[in-house]
Amino acid sequence: MSDKLAIKVTKAAHSKLPNVDFENLPFGKTFSDHMLIGTYADGAWKDFEIVPFGDISLSPAISALHYGQTFFEGLKAYRHDDGKISVFRPDKNAKRFNISAERMCMPTLPEEMFIESIAKLVDIDRDWVPSKEGYTMYIRPFMFATDPYLGVAPSTTYKFMVLVCPTGAYFSKNLNVKIETEYTRSAEGGFGYAKAAGNYAGSLFPGKKASEKGFDQILWTDAKTHEYVEEMGAANAMFVINGKLVTPSTRDTILDGVTRDSIITLAKSWGMEVEERRVAVAEVLEAIENGTCTDAFGAGTAATIASVAEMYHNGKTYVLPDPSKSEFANKMRKALDDIKYGRVEDTRGWNYMI
Ligand SMILES: *Cc1c(COP(=O)(O)O)cnc(C)c1O
Repeated sequence: MSDKLAIKVTKAAHSKLPNVDFENLPFGKTFSDHMLIGTYADGAWKDFEIVPFGDISLSPAISALHYGQTFFEGLKAYRHDDGKISVFRPDKNAKRFNISAERMCMPTLPEEMFIESIAKLVDIDRDWVPSKEGYTMYIRPFMFATDPYLGVAPSTTYKFMVLVCPTGAYFSKNLNVKIETEYTRSAEGGFGYAKAAGNYAGSLFPGKKASEKGFDQILWTDAKTHEYVEEMGAANAMFVINGKLVTPSTRDTILDGVTRDSIITLAKSWGMEVEERRVAVAEVLEAIENGTCTDAFGAGTAATIASVAEMYHNGKTYVLPDPSKSEFANKMRKALDDIKYGRVEDTRGWNYMI
């Protein structure tokens, strides 16, 4: 390891592991014994440290709190049947981390520092990676601005941190989705393609209103016309129409998901036709009505594939075929899990072994 990547380690005096109920691990609530923190100051990254997980002290004037100069990533570690641990495609997250950093006017982090930080933290807390079927360790890298200055300007100092959470199996209830025609998640020229905190803050209110009406998720449409599909909640929207995999092409309003890319790659390898293009809401609704749309789902790290049972648009409900019987969704879930849990040969080098 180069000096630049030397990560100082201070171990927790006592592990919290014996107190953790591994039968009950809701997403994002249980944190491991350690966390990683690095500092950007004077134009350089320095002082990467792994320390006991706990509260941190910061000025109340930091610009991350006032102007939202902050963003995050999300990926997972998996325990294989033979006990080995891998992280799924961290190189993709490292690249996207820097795409977000540039858009938010924040410093980039060399990809090997991003990956090494994750690898070392997961290794130190490797006993926290659950072994139960379907369980994972969620990894949350993030960066935030720390200048104690109330002017609206890019900060000159930042923290990079990584937290890890053991997480139970995701029970993907089939979703009742509202096609959103009033609110917008992101607009052209904005920063929807960055995993910036503000995108998620802005989606809470429309999400709450949809939830009050009984919907599980929002299908976002374009800000200008609300006629084109963009994303499904915080996941990429994908459809199977006439046997083809159809998904909105990535653009500045859409986040370029690792799950989306993995699904496209596998579908193509099976000889399936894939269309990445603008997808009209009218086309999807018509395809549901005439029975040619056999699958609609959100693709993301949290749920992998979250299937849609029904969609609501301007007063009308459109019902999809029973997702539990979907050949495509079930085959794709299994194919991805087989790779992530090391049950098949990893021919694409997607598993980063810890
Ligand atoms: C994180 C995220 C996704 C999914 O990306 P993955 O890399 O597959 O987890 C899709 N859309 C939005 C808005 C997201 O925040």
